[in-house]
Amino acid sequence: MNPDAQQRIGFIGAGNMAFGIAKGMLSGNVLPANIKVSAPSSTNLGRFQELGISVTHSNIEVVCGSDVVFVSVKPHMIPHVLVEVSQHITKKQIIVSVAAGVTLAMLEELLPENSIVIRLMPNLPCLVQEGALLFALGTNAKGEDGALLLSLLHCCGLVEEVPEAWIDVHTGLSGSGVAFVYLFAEALAEGAVKMGMPSALAHSIASQTVLGAGKLLRDSGKHPAQLRADVCTPGGTTIYGLHTLEQGGMRASVMNAVESATQRARELG
Ligand code: NAP
Repeated sequence: MNPDAQQRIGFIGAGNMAFGIAKGMLSGNVLPANIKVSAPSSTNLGRFQELGISVTHSNIEVVCGSDVVFVSVKPHMIPHVLVEVSQHITKKQIIVSVAAGVTLAMLEELLPENSIVIRLMPNLPCLVQEGALLFALGTNAKGEDGALLLSLLHCCGLVEEVPEAWIDVHTGLSGSGVAFVYLFAEALAEGAVKMGMPSALAHSIASQTVLGAGKLLRDSGKHPAQLRADVCTPGGTTIYGLHTLEQGGMRASVMNAVESATQRARELG
């Protein structure tokens, strides 16, 4: 059996992000019996149980029974949760925070000296194994700790180690970027509804268009401008539509959205 499959994985927090990562991991080597999740209420725990994952209301129980602990509570809850579990953390465990804006320095300050800490920024498409995940190693984390995390998460999507400075940018680009793409998909569909197409058909075609465009962009390795040029017949429909988007300032709006989401991530810590 692959050694990663024997790692005991804990999640503090049972929200959407914990569920996305856990579900992605299960499609890899990790067994449900090796995962435990905690949350104060039972609201979100049922869906983990349906996957065969054990659940508890005790964060300390999760920490004491795990080799790798994902802390996936809202950023403002991080100090409270880490102070609660701190005395149970050993120097062998890897603590992985997914909290937007909470820096490695803040995490290391809250945890016992020499703790192994990794800051991970995932996004919701982990749920369908198409996430975009970047992580940065803390002071005491070694290459082998990063390699273990990579191997646990490889089924969640694209995973890369980066310098910490890029994590907040990734939050704006990809953590929040998912919602920007949804807004675009919604607007595409509403344009079609305005032109008379039934809503259900318009939404299913819009989501397939976003999926197909994304897959082609990733798999071709081409620059988006090249792919855009490929569908622009001179004098044709697409260049007319693109001109309208440029007049509406779409490019600047999207760049501004990534900038403001990044700045907000920097403020959250
Ligand atoms: P969420 O859906 O609101 O889930 C938060 C979870 O934390 C809930 O299960 C909640 O418990 C639990 N919780 C609250 N207080 C707790 C405590 N004292 N001890 C243990 N668990 C506690 O949030 P989320 O969207 O998963 O986000 C979690 C983290 O992921 C955030 O820090 C966020 O910045 C980061 N993140 C999220 C996304 C995203 O797309 N959602 C992307 C990147 C990063 P109950 O179930 O009882 O309410």
